[in-house]
Amino acid sequence: MTDERDAISRRAALVQSATGAAALVLGGCATSSKVQGRAPQVEAQYQDHPSGLERCGTCKHFIPLSGCEIVAAPVQANGWCKYYKLF
Ligand code: SF4
Repeated sequence: MTDERDAISRRAALVQSATGAAALVLGGCATSSKVQGRAPQVEAQYQDHPSGLERCGTCKHFIPLSGCEIVAAPVQANGWCKYYKLF
């Protein structure tokens, strides 16, 4: 009986880890589907430092390592602009 429970637990763990891996892959695809923006940095009031707690690294438009869906590259993870949107 214990062996059967162990087998079920191992199977459940494998399914959970496979599901997590699939989520990571899909998340990675979503990130790579972003298209680099072209808005001038001056127009976006881009700055190379955060605005309070807001920074490119936590913005939904950020494309690692130095891109942005709105503002022309390069932008830095510690930068900020007026289009900031928390992801
Ligand atoms: S804060 Fe501005 S520059 Fe930075 S990622 Fe977001 S939209 Fe792009």
